Amino acid sequence: MTGRVFNIQHFSIHDGPGVRTTVFFKGCNLRCYWCHNPESQAFLPEVGFDSARCISCGKCVSACPKSDGVRSAIFDNCDGCGCCVEVCYTGARKLYGKDYAVDEILTDVLTDRDLYDKTGGGVTISGGEPFMQTDFLLALLSALKSEGIHTAVESAAFVDWGKIKKALPYIDLYICDIKSADDEKHMAATSKSNRLILENITKLSRCTNLLLRTPVIPGFNDSENDLSAIADFIAALPKVPQHELLSFSGICKGKYKALDRDFKAENLSPPTRNEMERFAEIFRRRGIDCTLND
Ligand code: SF4
Ligand code: SF4
Ligand code: SF4
Repeated sequence: MTGRVFNIQHFSIHDGPGVRTTVFFKGCNLRCYWCHNPESQAFLPEVGFDSARCISCGKCVSACPKSDGVRSAIFDNCDGCGCCVEVCYTGARKLYGKDYAVDEILTDVLTDRDLYDKTGGGVTISGGEPFMQTDFLLALLSALKSEGIHTAVESAAFVDWGKIKKALPYIDLYICDIKSADDEKHMAATSKSNRLILENITKLSRCTNLLLRTPVIPGFNDSENDLSAIADFIAALPKVPQHELLSFSGICKGKYKALDRDFKAENLSPPTRNEMERFAEIFRRRGIDCTLND
C-alpha cells in the first residue's frame, strides 16, 4: 500500500513527547487562512518555485512535458510529474508530494529508534489531514505499533467518527486543534463548520489520550471572549485534556510565494510572549493544564 507524503521530518520536538519523526501526509479538507503548511492542502503533488534561486538555465523548460517551449507549465497546467525538479540543480524547484510504501516510511523512521527510546519519543503522523488517507494511515500506524513505537496523530478531526474509532487502538496520543468555539467564525476562517470537530473532540476526550491545541491568530481568536469560549468548552469535556497554545507565525510566507498563492495572514504580527502568557491564564483559571508550545 502506498500513501502520499510531502515531508518526513526527523528530530522534531514540537509534535508530541520526546524526540520524534513527523510524517506529513498530503491533503487536507480544511483551508485555514493562516495555514503554516500550504503545501499540505492539495492532495495532488505540486511544484514550488523560488525565483531567487533560479539562474534561468532553461533546463526545466526542456524537461517539462507540458511546456510551450518557452516556459514550463508551472503553475497553471502543472500536473506535479516532477520532471523539472529532477533537472533543477539550484533547488529553485521543489516537489511537494511523493508516494511511499508503508515499508519505506518504516525503514526511514526506525533509523531513530534509539533516540525514541532514550527520550520517550516516537513517530507523529501529521499533515494536512492524516484521515484523508485513512487506509494508509491505518496500515502505517499498525506497522509502527508492531515495532513498539509510540505513535501520535495530529488531526483536525473533521472526519467521520467511524474512521477515527478504527485508528484509536494504534494511537498513543491524539493531537487536535480547537481553533474557535464559534461556528460562523470557524466556517469563515477554515471553510468548514466546527460542529463535527467539537463532537469528535468530546468523544475523543472520553476514550483516548488527547492533547488539544489552539493556534492563536491575531484578529481571529485572540480576544478574551474567543479564548474564554474555547476554554469553557474544554473545561466541560468529560475528561479535561491537556492543552497547548501555539503562537501564529508568519514564517511560512515564502512557501505561499513559491506556490503562487495569496497568504491572507501575511501582515499579521505574532502575539508577544506576555500576551501568550496572559492567554494561557484564561485556560488555567478554569483548571486546564495549559502550556505554551514555542
Ligand atoms: S531548471 Fe531551475 S534554475 Fe534552471 S531555469 Fe528552471 S527553475 Fe531556473
Ligand atoms: S512538475 Fe511536471 S508538469 Fe509541472 S512544471 Fe514540472 S515538469 Fe512541468
Ligand atoms: S487543518 Fe491544518 S493543515 Fe489543514 S488547512 Fe488548517 S492549518 Fe492547514
